[in-house]
Amino acid sequence: MASTPASISIPAELRPADGRFGSGPSKVRPEAVKALQARAVDYLGTSHRRTGVRSVVGRLRAAMAELFGLGDGWEVVLGNGGSTGFWDAAAFSLVERRAQHLTFGEFSEKFSAVTAAAPHLRDPMVITAPYGTHPVPEPADPADIDVYALTHNETSTGVCMPLVQPQLSPSRQGDAPSLVMVDATSAAGAMPWDPADVDCYYFAPQKAFAADGGLFIAACSPATIERIERIDAGGRYKPATLDLAIAARNSRQDQTYNTPALATILLTLETAEWMLDGGGLGWAASRSAASSGIVYGWAAAREFASPFVTDAAMRSPVVCTVDFEGVSADDIAAALRANDIVDTEGYRKLGRNQLRIAAFPAIDPADAEALTACIDYIVERL
Ligand SMILES: *Cc1c(COP(=O)(O)O)cnc(C)c1O
Repeated sequence: MASTPASISIPAELRPADGRFGSGPSKVRPEAVKALQARAVDYLGTSHRRTGVRSVVGRLRAAMAELFGLGDGWEVVLGNGGSTGFWDAAAFSLVERRAQHLTFGEFSEKFSAVTAAAPHLRDPMVITAPYGTHPVPEPADPADIDVYALTHNETSTGVCMPLVQPQLSPSRQGDAPSLVMVDATSAAGAMPWDPADVDCYYFAPQKAFAADGGLFIAACSPATIERIERIDAGGRYKPATLDLAIAARNSRQDQTYNTPALATILLTLETAEWMLDGGGLGWAASRSAASSGIVYGWAAAREFASPFVTDAAMRSPVVCTVDFEGVSADDIAAALRANDIVDTEGYRKLGRNQLRIAAFPAIDPADAEALTACIDYIVERL
């Protein structure tokens, strides 16, 4: 007789060592929490305007520059509000007149809604692709489109896209360039990218950086800094917390405009330095590729499962969306949860019979393997 999800007890030897597979907030490495504990009295609860905290912010900015191989003139800008706050800030400080948005899921759609609602901006050009695929940017006149809004990894659907600089016709190449802005919230630290193709690569650290939310981190090219300063000089009204000129000035001093979450900053630094010690971004990305490869390979080999993203090139190496047939994905997620394996539930708004499994660098590929064995165990009993 079939079991109810909550009554299934997975044998201890099948279970992953760590049961956190959420796509954000995501698994925080216990080693990072220990490092935070070690700084409980000389860092936590101390002024963010003094050297104790500022040296940690400085190390964080340096670690990001090293991890991403940022060249001369690039700046790492930090502020409060996470990636959603950064969208609002970008509408005030980065988009000059009109943005082109590539939308293919919840997060990319949300950013397009921000610039659509901004009264000082023209209606955006929105290029949409069906869920499970990604759109391609259309080269446009820089006098019309001054920002291309791309998303490295659409966390809601598990689709990643290549980052390309839309090619201008030679006659337009002397114009002030359009900026390529990339929402890298779930990709940064887990997918390789080339600063030559991007102007602003922004994220929050509660996903691949295995920290906590609330902060935005933006790697900004010289052209991006120039844009922020030009809009600032033009006198446009900007709320101070959403003003990237203020954020950039504070970041140069290893500070934020207002008080940040100090624990988030230290946890992010711990992960960034762990990635650098391991061998850098390529090493971190290889851990994600190993875990996601295990999940997709398993799904393809099972009768009852298949990767949602049919084009393998678009399949995210960090967030695996897996469709199920003949068995309820919600029941599987409930049985996993009853065994302390959490946050595998599918993205509600997609409305599919699906699990969504994170494969961030902090997740041990051996645990991804164990998760697939646990799902097999559950499916046999449901
Ligand atoms: C999680 C996520 C966001 C939102 O991040 P917050 O820090 O919660 O604002 C934005 N974009 C993508 C791609 C995400 O995965």
